[in-house]
Amino acid sequence: MTADRASDGLAVRCEELVHIYRTGDLDVVAVRGVDLVVEPGEKVALLGPSGSGKSTLLGMLGGLIPPSAGQVWVGDEEIGGMPERALLRMRAQRVGLVLQGAARNLLPYATPADNVRFAHRSLPKFRRREVMQPLELLDALGLGAVADTPVPCLSGGEQQRVALAVAVANGPGLILADEPTSQLDHPARDAVLDLIDVVNERFGTTVIVVTHDPEVGERLGRTVTMRYGRVGQEGRSGEQFAVVGKDGSVHLPDDILADWLPGTRVVVERDGVDLRLRRSES
Ligand code: ADP
Ligand code: MG
Repeated sequence: MTADRASDGLAVRCEELVHIYRTGDLDVVAVRGVDLVVEPGEKVALLGPSGSGKSTLLGMLGGLIPPSAGQVWVGDEEIGGMPERALLRMRAQRVGLVLQGAARNLLPYATPADNVRFAHRSLPKFRRREVMQPLELLDALGLGAVADTPVPCLSGGEQQRVALAVAVANGPGLILADEPTSQLDHPARDAVLDLIDVVNERFGTTVIVVTHDPEVGERLGRTVTMRYGRVGQEGRSGEQFAVVGKDGSVHLPDDILADWLPGTRVVVERDGVDLRLRRSES
């Protein structure tokens, strides 16, 4: 990310991605075979109820959580089997993470300016010259007025926006944000989403946001719904479609699922290249 437009957005791709948490004798399959393609510069909402595997999937995309099976590419690199050092380098230079809860991303007693400077200083020298300078960045993101206000004196929404500024300080090609708008009122939520738009439009950054708020999904344009550790229906402003998984399973849109209860027999009819699904009467 230089002063004009620089961090070309990174593509993200997952194939059959699985994560199993092993706790004592118990295995929890949090992500069970996710296929996903995100184009460079796209904005995507990962939407789904609590426990559906959103944070685990996001953690795997950011190299924080190792896949138990499957593959995940960020840009041209398959990161699932990358050594920790290479993952650290990727997170430091190419990916911006916003963890759930703004405070976890910030030095608590410092100012926004110091927080962004800290992220900036951790870059190698040549990268530091390439990316926007800390105060310039805060100005560009509309946070110049609070640059010197200590973090505890900022509102929740301001803290989230500063966390986003910290995440883009390294000029990443991909931003991964976990519930950046939860616990915010609507004006503060919209301000965070406006900032995400600014980052995406100005720098071309690919953005993946975890949320349980369908309105956030609507705003971002593309929504990918997770349910029980799998990617289900997808939508783009107004239209909805179901995605076929590698095993042939199809997660239907929620309004259809409300009528077609588990076990419903469905007739699949071919009509040229089109398929039609209807409930079997028998
Ligand atoms: P979401 O972000 O959609 O709420 P998570 O990815 O946090 O979902 O969790 C998916 C599933 O994995 C849940 O059943 C959750 O209880 C379980 N889980 C998450 N983190 C851990 C962990 N560290 N150890 C064991 N189970 C976990
Ligand atoms: Mg979560």
